[in-house]
Amino acid sequence: MQGIQLDLFKVETVPDLSSYDTFIVAFSGGKDSICCVLTLLDLGIQPTQIELHHHLVDGREGSTLFDWPVTEDYCRQFAQAFGLKIYYSWLEGGLEREMCRDNQPKAPTHFETPEGVQTIGGQGQLGTRRKFPAKTADLSRRWCSAYAKIDVLSAAIANQPRFNHSKTLVVTGERAEESAARAKYQRLEPHRSDRRNSPKLARQVDHWRPVHGLSEKQVWATIERWGIQVHPAYYLGWGRLSCQRCIFGSPNQWASNLAIAPTQTKRMQAYEVEFQHTLDNKRSISEMAAAGTVYEAIAQHPQMLEQALSRRYAAAIRVQAGEWRLPAGAFGEDGGPL
Ligand code: SF4
Repeated sequence: MQGIQLDLFKVETVPDLSSYDTFIVAFSGGKDSICCVLTLLDLGIQPTQIELHHHLVDGREGSTLFDWPVTEDYCRQFAQAFGLKIYYSWLEGGLEREMCRDNQPKAPTHFETPEGVQTIGGQGQLGTRRKFPAKTADLSRRWCSAYAKIDVLSAAIANQPRFNHSKTLVVTGERAEESAARAKYQRLEPHRSDRRNSPKLARQVDHWRPVHGLSEKQVWATIERWGIQVHPAYYLGWGRLSCQRCIFGSPNQWASNLAIAPTQTKRMQAYEVEFQHTLDNKRSISEMAAAGTVYEAIAQHPQMLEQALSRRYAAAIRVQAGEWRLPAGAFGEDGGPL
């Protein structure tokens, strides 16, 4: 244990970690999910017991509308640096296909397992979407979080017999400080894939949010203590690592996206025309971009920009004490999910 301050956690919300067989971290590659991993390691959990599960919001091939290009490889290299297993999962065609669904079933979901890739679904009822996810805390209307992330992880757990007759702890990085909606989340509760009362499955899955009560300052302090070089987007000025073109993007983020990735950003704008409704209730993407300012850090960190837009992460995951730098995006605007 690396001198963690256990007083950061309310004792009653720390589960008995010694009772779990597997620890699954829903790993976006962002600072809060990194802090979750470091917390488990701080608390003495062995790397062999930890699995990172990362959801590819754009799917595995084809779409490039939402994800930062480097995120998949950054997550892979983070896992390698700590000797952790990492599994990817995705909705076929990603959010873009779901957004454009027109009298079609929801696409199949794929998830990696120790035995290879499994596929479920794809044969459901026909339906039409042809709209953006809504900018709301209501997950049924902000369907991107559910379809691309929450449902995918639940399906991956529920469809792998290795989680039956065992105890699994799912660890996610929501913090109360982020929004009023997140402040209401339980710190410890049964996970939605839990089936502990089924005699046949006996699948106990709990859901722990270890950083829920932490401030952003405490999260960065943990990351600094471990010498983690975070995802390049933070060094360019983004305060939260979510989709590069998150539906909650601020005017500054839209202005920055238009400057660094005009093709994908204009493609998003074209969908506003095609769907005949804007992503934001009040302003179009181009109006938001015009109202924003390109992050200054982008021009100051050309190598980080190159990294962020590359499919390969070529920088270090861990740096020596004294070399660690707080990124420009720290304590900045969130512009992420509610
Ligand atoms: S990061 Fe934004 S766009 Fe991406 S899934 Fe979450 S809410 Fe939706």
